[in-house]
Amino acid sequence: MPLKKETKKLAKADHNSLWHPFTRHLEWEEEEPLIIERASGNYLIDTEGRRYLDGISSLWVTVHGHRKKELDQAVKKQLRKVAHSTLLGLSSVVAIELSEKLIKVAPSGLKKVFYSDSGSTSVEIALKMAFHFSRAGGDTKKTKFLSFTGAYHGDTVGSMSVGEVDAFVTQYKPLLFKGYKAPYPYCYRCPLKKEPATCNLECIKKLEEILKKNSSTIAGCIIEPLVQGAAGMITSPPGFLKEVRRLTKKYNVLLIVDEVATGFGRTGKLFASEHEKIKPDILCIAKGLTGGYLPLAATLTTEAIFKSFQGTKESPNAFYHGHTYTGNPLGCAVALANLKIFKDDKTIEKIQPKIKLLKNLLEPFKDLPFVGEVRQRGLMVGIELVADKKTKKPFPQNKRTGAKICRRARERGLIIRPLGDTIILMPPLSIKESELRKITKIVPDCIKAETEKNKE
Ligand SMILES: *Cc1c(COP(=O)(O)O)cnc(C)c1O
Repeated sequence: MPLKKETKKLAKADHNSLWHPFTRHLEWEEEEPLIIERASGNYLIDTEGRRYLDGISSLWVTVHGHRKKELDQAVKKQLRKVAHSTLLGLSSVVAIELSEKLIKVAPSGLKKVFYSDSGSTSVEIALKMAFHFSRAGGDTKKTKFLSFTGAYHGDTVGSMSVGEVDAFVTQYKPLLFKGYKAPYPYCYRCPLKKEPATCNLECIKKLEEILKKNSSTIAGCIIEPLVQGAAGMITSPPGFLKEVRRLTKKYNVLLIVDEVATGFGRTGKLFASEHEKIKPDILCIAKGLTGGYLPLAATLTTEAIFKSFQGTKESPNAFYHGHTYTGNPLGCAVALANLKIFKDDKTIEKIQPKIKLLKNLLEPFKDLPFVGEVRQRGLMVGIELVADKKTKKPFPQNKRTGAKICRRARERGLIIRPLGDTIILMPPLSIKESELRKITKIVPDCIKAETEKNKE
């Protein structure tokens, strides 16, 4: 079927004027872009009226599906009141209500909510808070951060500095501040060359070594709890996060938990921190906060950290940070409605059988040729492809195997994206069992089709 005139016009305009994020434009401009016009439930609909299952929650944000009635209504209702007012010198009804609700549902001990508008800014804020906190106590030696190999915390300069996904940060290395890196338990390719069965969590010992030697210079340790998302859904073994919390406490280093990806049910609980019952000193949330509707983020912290910014009566102080759209009321209103759905619909309870079903459906993937490892935590999945299962040798990068598989899936009506040669699945929590079956039928078909072609 030839494309509609309007689609062609839009495609041309896209190529003329739009610069896409994380996109190689030489390749992008070789093909017709898929242009989304509408959505409904778990489906995206393009300008040609074709429907696609949203297998990555529109980049990890959609929670209860698109065009969710309650969320649509929350935005409309707020629009009749005010779209935006500032939190600098003023407050707003919905920003207040949301901060109270977030404190109630977040891991205990977090008592103050600082709003911003993206995951990166929520991390940037967390780093500045931790840095300032140690200085407020008169300690000026704590100027560094401890993070993990393979980490991703965002694209601003501060958040890149604590990140380590090579392709994203290599170009900018001279700009970044230096810190310490501890090995994250990427057990399939252990950075310490150990085997999970016999390693005794050697990586934790490495973390302790760093802390023991350098804790007097470390303001905070930042971690993606349970799952490193952008690294390719690297799932950490049980107990790892709890140990990180124990050791950071032991060596008096603040723990910043970046739940930008894992928050809002993705791992099977509202927050990943709950699985190992840890209490972060600072918590970053964004992506799922508004159910995937509007850009809103928050950094939550303890009373002690908040107080450290107050100064004294004689010389009062402040956290001199804020973004213009901080705590945008439309975002806050829809975030409140998002949390209300979690409660009223018992969303967390309802996804448990889906997580189990997905686990069963993924089981046979392990036997496919070229599937090195299948990692799942809740509704977050990474399928790592390799050229050789025995040696774990990756495919040559320029073959773009992962990207081509996702392209094939699109022809079959499924939107997914790879991270390198790891195929990522992250369906909305509203995904139906029949849709999970559909996804797990399409993906292996596409893996087979592409890798068989590769063999020739
Ligand atoms: C996506 C992500 C971020 C960055 O969020 P943006 O809203 O894209 O700035 C930070 N941390 C983690 C763990 C993420 O997955």
